[in-house]
Formats: sequence, structure tokens, C-alpha cells
Amino acid sequence: MRAYDIIKKKRDGQDLSKDELSAFLGNYLKGEVSDYQVSAFLMAVFLKGMTTEEMVNMTEIMLESGSRIDLSDIPGPKIDKHSTGGVGDKVSLVLVPLVASAGVVVPMMSGRGLGHTGGTVDKLESIPGFRTTLSVKEFKDILSKIGCAMIGQSEEIAPLDRRLYALRDVTATVESIPLIASSIMSKKLSKGIDGLVLDVKVGRGAFMKDLEGARRLAKTMTEIGNSFGVKTAALLTDMNEPLGMAIGNSLEVREAIDALKGKGPQDLMEVTLHLGALMLKLGGIEESLEAGKGRLIRLIEDGSALERFIKMIELHGGNPKIVERPTLLPYSCLSIDITSQESGYIQSMDAEAVGVASMILGAGRERMDSIIDPAAGIILKKKVGDFVERGEILCSFCTADDALGEKAREIFLNAIKFGERPPANRRFLEKRRLIIDTIEEVKN
Ligand code: URA
Repeated sequence: MRAYDIIKKKRDGQDLSKDELSAFLGNYLKGEVSDYQVSAFLMAVFLKGMTTEEMVNMTEIMLESGSRIDLSDIPGPKIDKHSTGGVGDKVSLVLVPLVASAGVVVPMMSGRGLGHTGGTVDKLESIPGFRTTLSVKEFKDILSKIGCAMIGQSEEIAPLDRRLYALRDVTATVESIPLIASSIMSKKLSKGIDGLVLDVKVGRGAFMKDLEGARRLAKTMTEIGNSFGVKTAALLTDMNEPLGMAIGNSLEVREAIDALKGKGPQDLMEVTLHLGALMLKLGGIEESLEAGKGRLIRLIEDGSALERFIKMIELHGGNPKIVERPTLLPYSCLSIDITSQESGYIQSMDAEAVGVASMILGAGRERMDSIIDPAAGIILKKKVGDFVERGEILCSFCTADDALGEKAREIFLNAIKFGERPPANRRFLEKRRLIIDTIEEVKN
């Protein structure tokens, strides 16, 4: 079939067979189908969608365009986690050593931050010496020794996804559930994992702003994972306001260390423990989420999780002394207190705007080739539901440059809405509803 006919078929809302998708995308990789034809195909998918079968086939084709990592010689359940990204989301830094200390093997590959969202690789690289680019052998050696390792996306994994993503980025076709789901899952399934837990963020600071879209994405990825024989579950978690109090790379590492020492902020711990308990359940280590959370809390209390984090830093070439002396982390910045211009209860704090303010301070990338400042970011002093007096400190900015602080100040202040009474959802419920839903099984 000609490329033209495949595009036309999808344009007209018909389903494509695996052979058709495979021939079209395979010919693209060989240079026999052009970028403009694939762009038209992506737009047709964006507008007409895909069936589950098409998405599973698309995932497999992208997965098979690159190499896979075989982990079958490493004993223990191999369970990975993926977050669709948010602001202040340092969950992986706490979760990975924590669940590894419970006997789960976590082979994590993460991305870099872009725009208002942060990336785990940038956070790890703020630890002096920490290497996120390792050979497969080094990655597996660390996994064998301590049950966890955290690296960046390898060039050899799903190269077709990279080519398609670059086209989607410039053709307004990123926000398509079939394309997002197959893109994420092709990379996650490239490692021989037994289970996968997805943290699908929803709200102002998330990729998916509305609950319905986030739920569909979570269900779709869960279906794809399970159809590959990988036990997959998803959480839908709130990302209307930032997670925790720290936003920015080394600031988030500090907060993650506090969390591993048992002093983490409540919202960060709630998401981490829930995801961790799901990982223990998928790995057959605990039967219930409650038992899993109990085990994880004990592993924090007895120091095992922190010990695992220290070993992971060491094996990745980083300086483990940052755990006892966080001042060894990048800290060369001005601290600028941002005070409130109003009195009242904080009704909302737009996570996306706070993420943009942090990016402007130097913590994030506007474009993929922007240089980040590992020390920059925001330390929140107040969150939604808190009462603030005019003149009280809302947050501290860390930045290398006063002028950047001036630029970010207005964005940050505009992100916060005040009211005379506590916000409605905090008046009756004691705290923010962070875990919106858990999707453990999708029936076809
Ligand atoms: N992250 C990915 O890896 N792919 C997408 O399509 C969107 C987010």
C-alpha cells in the first residue's frame, strides 16, 4: 500500500492493520516516506484517534525500532514507575531507593525537564558527580548490587519515537492520547520489566488539565502495558498546586533527602507511599496497599531507604556526603523573599505559573538546548488553605540574577488567588484530595 493510501485511510477514520502501520513507519525510518507525509498521518491520528489494537501495534513498532534491555538475569520483581510530569514532582528520588529497600528492583530511565515541568535527570545531575549516562552493563551492575539505578533516556531506545516526537512538537500533534500513550509505553516497555506504575498528573500544572482526559490516558496506558504482559496500574494525582515545598533541582534533592529521613511534606509522602505500595503489590511483596504503606514507613523509620539512596549516589559516581551535608549541593544563589501584597486564605496556587516562575529563575528549560542552573528555584513557605497576612513571606526565590527574580515575581504573585475564607474543598475535607483515583485493572 502506498503511503498516500495509509494517510487517506486514517484521515477517513478507518483502522490500520499492524502490517500497514509497520510498513508506513518502517519506510519512514528507511527514508522512503517523507516528514510531511508522517506529519499528515500524525494529524489524522490526532483528529480520528486509534483503537486499542492500533495503539498496541504502534507501541510495538516503536519499541522494536530500537534495542531492549534484558533484565532476566537480575533476580526479584522488576517494577518501574513513570510520571507524566509536574511541578515539584521529586517523587522518584524518594520512591526508587525506598521500594528497592523493600525488595523491588527498579530500573528507572527518566527524562529532562522542559517548560514549566522538571525532569528527574536534571535533579539527579545536581548531585555533584552523579552520572546519569551509563552503559547497559553499568546500569545492570548497579541494579544487581542494590536493586535500583536511575539513568537518562538512551539513544538506542525507541528511536522511532524520538523522530515522531520531533515532528509532533512542530505540528501541534503532541496532545493526542494514542500518540502520548504509545510514545511513553514504547520507552517503558523496552526494559524487561514485570510491572509498571503510572502517576498520571491532572490539573493546572500537568500535561493533562482535565480529569476526563487524564483518566483516558491512564486507562489507555494501563491497557497497553497489560496487553504486553506487564502488570500495569495507574494513579490519577492532583497537580493543581506544586508537590511539596521545593521547586528546582538541588532544592528538590534536599527535600527528597528530608523525606527519606522521615521529614517529608505530607503531600509528597502521600503520593510516594501510595505509588510505592502499588509497586510492592504488583511485585508480589505485599497483598494490600495498607500493608505496603506500613512496610515502606518502617523502611524510612529504620534508615534502610536513606541507606539505599546513599549507596545509589555512590555507585553512580556522586558525592554521598550531600545526604548529611546538603550544603555540598549547588547553592550559589541569591535568596529573595517574596512577600504577599494581600491578606487572606490562599484559594489556589497555579502550579503551571509557579513552574514558569521557577524556569525563569534558571531551574528549567524554555527550549531543549537551554542551560539550567541546578541551584535555582523556589522554596514555598505557604500553600493552598494557609492564611497569609499582607507583608508575610510567601516563598523564597533562589537565583543567580536579581533581574530574573524581578521577572519571576509578578508571575508568581499572579499565580496565587486569595479569599476571605478557606477554600471550599479544604473547609470540609481536612486536606487536599491528592489521590484522585487508582486504576489497577482495565477490562477489555
Ligand atoms: N512524554 C513522552 O515520552 N511522550 C509524549 O508523547 C508525551 C510525553
